Amino acid sequence: MIDELAGNQELTACSREVCRCTLMGPSRGEVYCSETCRKADEDGIESETCACGHPPCDER
Ligand SMILES: [Zn+2]
Ligand SMILES: [Zn+2]
Repeated sequence: MIDELAGNQELTACSREVCRCTLMGPSRGEVYCSETCRKADEDGIESETCACGHPPCDER
């Protein structure tokens, strides 16, 4: 969903594709909702579900 990443919205979606979380507050360049997502992307882990544990991603 590229349109969600464009513009100057205060809410930023997590950069992990499978993650549905939204980053709250000042991002300070942060693009992941959690270390879980950051590591998953850095490690190139491909998955259909996000394991960050936040409610938006907790549904199976
Ligand atoms: Zn997530
Ligand atoms: Zn995330």
